[in-house]
Amino acid sequence: MALYDELVGVVGEKYCTDKDYICVAYSRGLDPCLQEIIPQIAIRPESTEQISEIVAIAKQYKTAVLPRGGGCGLMGGSKPIKKETILLDLTRMDKILDIDELNHTVTVQCGINWSRLNAKLFDKGFYTGNMGPGSGLNASIGGGLSHHSGGGGGCAKYGKCTENCVGLEVVLGTGDIITLGSQESKFVEKPFTRFGFGPDLMGIFLGDNGTMGIKTTATLKIYPKPPYFSGKTFFIKENSYEHTQNIVQEMIAKGWSKSLGIYDFFFTPPPSVMGITTDKLIKTWGDIKGGVIFYVIEAFDENILEKNSQILENIANKYSTRELGPSSKEGNITDWFYGEQGHWQVYHPLFSVMGPDYFAATTEVMVPISLFPRILHKLDEWEEEHHEDLFEADAESGVSHVVMLNHNSCYIGSGLGATHDEDLKIDVINLWKDQFNLLLKEGAVLYMCGQIGSHVIVDSRLYSKNYYQFFKKVKKMVDPDNILSPGKFRF
Ligand SMILES: Cc1cc2nc3c(=O)[nH]c(=O)nc-3n(C[C@H](O)[C@H](O)[C@H](O)COP(=O)(O)OP(=O)(O)OC[C@H]3O[C@@H](n4cnc5c(N)ncnc54)[C@H](O)[C@@H]3O)c2cc1C
Repeated sequence: MALYDELVGVVGEKYCTDKDYICVAYSRGLDPCLQEIIPQIAIRPESTEQISEIVAIAKQYKTAVLPRGGGCGLMGGSKPIKKETILLDLTRMDKILDIDELNHTVTVQCGINWSRLNAKLFDKGFYTGNMGPGSGLNASIGGGLSHHSGGGGGCAKYGKCTENCVGLEVVLGTGDIITLGSQESKFVEKPFTRFGFGPDLMGIFLGDNGTMGIKTTATLKIYPKPPYFSGKTFFIKENSYEHTQNIVQEMIAKGWSKSLGIYDFFFTPPPSVMGITTDKLIKTWGDIKGGVIFYVIEAFDENILEKNSQILENIANKYSTRELGPSSKEGNITDWFYGEQGHWQVYHPLFSVMGPDYFAATTEVMVPISLFPRILHKLDEWEEEHHEDLFEADAESGVSHVVMLNHNSCYIGSGLGATHDEDLKIDVINLWKDQFNLLLKEGAVLYMCGQIGSHVIVDSRLYSKNYYQFFKKVKKMVDPDNILSPGKFRF
């Protein structure tokens, strides 16, 4: 009661609750089978100062604080692992603080979602370039920066969302507030670059899965949104991942985003093609052969767009049986996403691949481009080997998409589809972990870790002893009582 009263003292009764019937909502995530524990208290602060006070109180009571943005993480990252948790819901912190059209940055409170931010920016002719994750209609900037997210648009051109962060304000586990990037200097009026004064300490908080600090405000690069775009979808001729890789390599050799203006490039392997489409598209697509690729290019000049479009089309045609389109009704998925909606923030393909009652036990990873065919083959082999186990667990395995990132890497959207059947949860979790292990041993990198992923990383002894020691020491420094997201990475 004393803890609750102190917290009410910070935000008022309206924004702090210990009622189970409200807190129960915060016990849930989008994963199919990780445990659901109702937090003791849920709190909705409106400012950095309030968060600082909340953390200081939690530290005094040695109670866990778990930050939560949109709650769209798929690996249990924003679900409590024990009842004695203060669930910090950041969605009230959703203000756009500054749009700097001269220096091309936007400063926001970290609880705002990608969709609302970009809607405002679109009005001014800008966008965030990378549009956060595919869940960006709900997912927050803070959640994206905690996961190195991408997938909501612009990955091929702008990379992960963390690559576009130039300023960050964070509350540490001590309650101290710090600013990172050019803001480290009290004489810099507005953040404009992540690098400058000595080492890049901002990096400690990017992709940290909520373990190192609470992100309260962030400054992101914004870019003028090109007025012209073209998107194409192609059937791939051969059921061979190497075949698709050749397309990518040819496009890279011709200049990729820098010269050709590629904004996004997706490959969807055969079984998944059916899942990501609308009913209309499924009817049109029929025979799915080697899967599909779809890409969007952008330009500020119509003639340049036309020229680049032709170069890319020539490459794609070499490897494709046919182009789908031009409209979405005829199978051009880019027209549906980018043309009609302006982003990709609508789905997680694994859900729809598996059917309406299935949820994604995702094992999404990042790999260098050269590795993706090998990883996809390994996942196919894994599926064959575990055919019986998957059947018993009422789960399916699949790869929903390969999303190209800028320069040299890509995200692979792999995982299981599973039901919410209580009796099968343990089996699904075991299969889920097994698939993680396969991917990690093949050299893949997990960017969204949550509870389950971060445990697999540590348990598989992937980190060298020295690295893990260093990681633990840094954690101890920023959060001496281990109150921020305890349990992750086995902290
Ligand atoms: C339909 C769908 C599509 C998806 N597509 C993608 C995709 O394309 N790419 C991708 O990367 N992921 C994707 N995801 C996974 C997930 O939604 C994203 O990673 C997203 O960025 C999470 O943001 P969130 O605000 O929902 O975070 P939450 O789920 O609320 O939190 C995620 C983690 O970040 C921490 N956290 C949240 N806010 C803060 C903060 N302010 N300070 C410190 N820590 C914080 C939490 O403690 C937790 O560990 C998808 C999920 C769904 C359901």
